[in-house]
Amino acid sequence: MGLYAEVIISCPDCGEHITLQSGAGDHGWHTQDSVPKHIAESLNGEETWCKKCDAKLVITTTRPETLNVPLYVIKPRVDA
Ligand SMILES: [Zn+2]
Repeated sequence: MGLYAEVIISCPDCGEHITLQSGAGDHGWHTQDSVPKHIAESLNGEETWCKKCDAKLVITTTRPETLNVPLYVIKPRVDA
């Protein structure tokens, strides 16, 4: 009954699970490989960090481009 959709990702550096929240109108949780498109889009550009190793991450739904912080790619589901 949450107000937020949650997307579970793994830290690319240490594998720690990180939970992202999106207020894009869905609820429940999704894994990084199957994110409804509108949720993926709402998280595009979101910054987060790993509580375990302090890695800073920028979430993107597209291919990584040259930035000075690690990007974390989530894949929008194509059927939505
Ligand atoms: Zn980490």
